[in-house]
Amino acid sequence: MKDGIYRNTCPRNCYGTCGILSYVKNGRLIKVTGDPKHGYTKGRLCAKGYASTQFVYNTQRLKYPMIQNPRGSGNWKRISWDEAYSIIAGKIIELNQRYGSNLASGYNKFSGNLGLLHNAVEGMFNSFGPHTKPTGNPCALTGKLAVNQSFGDNYSSVPEDMLHANLIVIWGANPAVTNVHQMKFIYKARRKGAKFVVIDPIFTRTAEKADIYIQINPGTDGWLALGIAKIIIEKGIDFEESIRDQTIGWDQYKHFIQNQINLFDVSKRTGVPIEAMEVLAEFYGNLKPAVTWNGLGIQRNDRGGHSISAINSLAAITGNLSNPNGGLYYMHFDKEYFPQLLLNHQGPIHPTITNSREVDISNYSKNALTLIDPPLKFLWVASRNIITQDQNLKSWQQLFNQLELIVTVDLYLTKTAKKSDIVLPAASHFEEEDLNVGYWHYWLALNQKAIPPYYEAKSDLQIARELTKKLNELSPVFSNFPYEKEPIDWIKEELSPEIMHQYGLTSYEDLLKGPQKKLEITRSTSDPEKFNLLPAIETHANDLFLSENLQQPLTYRLLTPQTLLKIHSQYEMVSWLDHGETDNIIEISYNAAIQHEIDENAKIEIYNEHGLIAGTAKINPTLPYNVVLASQAGSNPINQLISQKEEKDKNSASTFFYDSIVKIRKWREKHV
Ligand code: SF4
Repeated sequence: MKDGIYRNTCPRNCYGTCGILSYVKNGRLIKVTGDPKHGYTKGRLCAKGYASTQFVYNTQRLKYPMIQNPRGSGNWKRISWDEAYSIIAGKIIELNQRYGSNLASGYNKFSGNLGLLHNAVEGMFNSFGPHTKPTGNPCALTGKLAVNQSFGDNYSSVPEDMLHANLIVIWGANPAVTNVHQMKFIYKARRKGAKFVVIDPIFTRTAEKADIYIQINPGTDGWLALGIAKIIIEKGIDFEESIRDQTIGWDQYKHFIQNQINLFDVSKRTGVPIEAMEVLAEFYGNLKPAVTWNGLGIQRNDRGGHSISAINSLAAITGNLSNPNGGLYYMHFDKEYFPQLLLNHQGPIHPTITNSREVDISNYSKNALTLIDPPLKFLWVASRNIITQDQNLKSWQQLFNQLELIVTVDLYLTKTAKKSDIVLPAASHFEEEDLNVGYWHYWLALNQKAIPPYYEAKSDLQIARELTKKLNELSPVFSNFPYEKEPIDWIKEELSPEIMHQYGLTSYEDLLKGPQKKLEITRSTSDPEKFNLLPAIETHANDLFLSENLQQPLTYRLLTPQTLLKIHSQYEMVSWLDHGETDNIIEISYNAAIQHEIDENAKIEIYNEHGLIAGTAKINPTLPYNVVLASQAGSNPINQLISQKEEKDKNSASTFFYDSIVKIRKWREKHV
């Protein structure tokens, strides 16, 4: 690679999708800065982004393909890429011959790298014909479906416009930790006089900055939205006729709110005093434009979708959806408007099996274990660290026992990689080309290959190309993956005439000059539908008959937020970012500390029927009495305690990460 400055994009599962300038000398990445031409991130990165050089040149990074025998023993041996491809291709072909199809072969991939060319994994499996594929979205599907129900389409306001708001209400999000760039728009709005409200069970770093912080019982956000709506409706809305015209279900919604919602009941369920609801109702009524941000936190329980619908409806009935610069934020799914040619690559037709077998990724192991005829026998893991992230680890262990070959592609020897038979070293985003469209802001950016691969690391696309060749060498025409196409060909094909028009591009070269913003963000790409108020009341009508708090005494709801210097288990190996902020710290309330006679810094355990975590107690005086807080990541990952409720509809919701209930006890020495 030539010395110089290259354009990269941070591909992490993060709101930022930041533009990066990479400085390269003698083939090495010597420093990174933010790309000032990126109109949203404007030349800034977070600490994780600035730590990129250590992320790339890290002694713990995987250098070569390796095989472990027996699996889990730690007895790793370096092998060549050709040996790795021969073993993997041999297994895929053998399973095909054994079962007459590729259904015994599958993959599990999610959000470790969100670049469009990382869809090479999906494309590679598609190119074998019907196989076993993950569907759904463990993080955001609940909210996505709720937003769709409200708007008839995906929709999230333009983040830069937040600075024009006079009221900002953040509901279940902690941008001071997870979306640091957005804070500058909030600060600017506040300097101009905007009121800033944070609603969250946890007194977060964002809540510390707010004018008003409202502590709410987890999972009751929808009730609070309905309570505020009741106060607003009772005071009278002077533009009621236009609401009736612009919405579906206004009369039913109003009737339900007036007759079924009782503020004392709402207060009891939510833990929010009626006076606080009145303040919020007054703010929503008088401070226009108002923006409301549905955070991911509110959809991590089995009432999440309905909470988002109720919050959306509150924004609609206060006239903030038709007010310029007012609106709603969740996240957008603009990626779906791209051709996504790798994702949608069509494989060969099987004589009797028409489709791939789908497994809901939010409960993959349990669902995969139910598959028979044939059972799942081969698993490819990419952009994912199942063992630190997924739920139902006991069923994952069962699934691993059933699998005949597990291959993990990663930059590091993660906990999942350690349970695999073969690990393949993945290229970092500085070592591959890609195209990135985020899910928060509306900027499209290129990712250039800035440096040669670290030792023998390869991109997902390169691996797909080479494994295809090996498969076809061993079994002619086994795969139809177009291995001859270069990354740049795939990128150019993503820039369809529609995409070029939407981003105001005249040619691919425009992207070399810097990120480009989508020109027009409409609420609906098709014929705008009316806003639907009915989902906001549907489940709440059923919930009226439920007790306001089903939690047993001396049990605690486990909330597991992100931390500032990690994204899940990513960046764990980067010592620059290791401030020991997460490792096995368990935050408990004063009440819990008294109940269990636990002192600050005492060793404690939290446990349930799924597992046990041991850690150091930190007494958090702002924590609700029945909540325990343990951050994601750390050496003893908290997902061990998380298991999906059985009644979750297939493919219709994310993982209910925040529905897990745990107990607390003092440390038992045998766990040391
Ligand atoms: S982790 Fe997020 S904020 Fe940090 S550099 Fe990457 S995209 Fe930007």
